[in-house]
Amino acid sequence: MSTNPTASAPIHAENPYFPVVDNELTAGGIKLSELVKRAGQTPFYVYDKNAMTERVKALRAAMPKDLSLHYAMKANPMPAVVKHMSGLVDGIDVASGRELRVALDTPTKPHDISFAGPGKSLEEIRLAVASDIVINLESLTQLQQTETAAHALNKKAKVAIRVNPDFELKSSGMKMGGHAAQFGIDAEIVPDVLKRIGASDALEFVGFHIFWGSQNLRPENIIEAHDNTFALAYRLAQSAPAPVKLLNIGGGLGIPYFPGDKALELAEISANLERHLAECKQRLPEAEVVMELGRYLVGEAGLYVCEVLERKVSRGQVFLITNGGLHHHLAASGNFGQIIRKNYPLAVANRVSSDDMETVHVVGPLCTPLDLLGSKMTLPKADIGDLIAVYQSGAYGLTASPRAFLSHPDAVELLV
Ligand SMILES: *Cc1c(COP(=O)(O)O)cnc(C)c1O
Repeated sequence: MSTNPTASAPIHAENPYFPVVDNELTAGGIKLSELVKRAGQTPFYVYDKNAMTERVKALRAAMPKDLSLHYAMKANPMPAVVKHMSGLVDGIDVASGRELRVALDTPTKPHDISFAGPGKSLEEIRLAVASDIVINLESLTQLQQTETAAHALNKKAKVAIRVNPDFELKSSGMKMGGHAAQFGIDAEIVPDVLKRIGASDALEFVGFHIFWGSQNLRPENIIEAHDNTFALAYRLAQSAPAPVKLLNIGGGLGIPYFPGDKALELAEISANLERHLAECKQRLPEAEVVMELGRYLVGEAGLYVCEVLERKVSRGQVFLITNGGLHHHLAASGNFGQIIRKNYPLAVANRVSSDDMETVHVVGPLCTPLDLLGSKMTLPKADIGDLIAVYQSGAYGLTASPRAFLSHPDAVELLV
């Protein structure tokens, strides 16, 4: 828990996508008090198309030009967002049949859509085969089921192998690969699986998917992972039944959420990738090298906005009780993958700065102490009806939250 009450202030100041006009936050050039009218209610999420466009543009400018970018849509599967992203990136990664249907509705071509996931139903596999997308095989069972579906549909299924890597990130002190996992096929047995694919008349081998982790803010970790990823890909390619056409090197680029986090420096990561791409052109000349990203592309492009229902003082501490909380935004409550709870950056959206500051707890309406959006944060003094905005809410927000918990009204999503 953050003990420095002012520590959250600088981060939202770094978010360039939601400028302050007349002391009020704006999204897409519109004041949030106006957007409330469009939403028809609080709470709501607002995602900014232009922020996503700028983000992808900046990433492309920073990265080698031959690197392809895919959008991992589980980060934000709102169909309008996916459609917008479709126009910006080179492909879409889906993780379920329903996500696949949304991706197929965009202009992205089926062969630029890939489907990952440790458990795929027979219906999902049939849909994937029928749609001519790339299936990332995560097990021998999936291989058999894909083969069966392809025979039944009289089609050839495009398959890549999702590899459970045999390296770990030593410098991070955190194992992100090299261990037992439900994800991917263990690198040790991949050569055998490649033989099976080569022997099948129903499967077309297209390449490898090597995913090693997520939300990393340390360039040296990412560089080491890329070094290991390319080395592993070259080793496995020796057993491949056909040229590698697709090499998905994972994502992992993180965004700053908490006090002390700094935006990721891309220069060294890019220089290292430039070297790898040059070597890859020699060793796997047909391979399109893809980086798949969710959070990095859309995470900073969204706000979650809720409204203060009550100001309550308990034993000298102020609680702003809002109508928003973990039922819409589990991640901001600290219950989605955080080990030690930290505050997301917050603002009083209709009064961004003030001479009258106070230290408050921002909580939701649910009957659980877990429903906490901000602990001991110093914010402009807020009252009933004021708007609280949570930054960095464009990824893993509404669809990563237990929306039915306590049966409160759902949040609205706007794309501006
Ligand atoms: C979730 C996921 C991603 C996206 O991770 P981010 O941290 O949002 O970039 C990419 N690839 C796979 C296979 C995933 O499961």
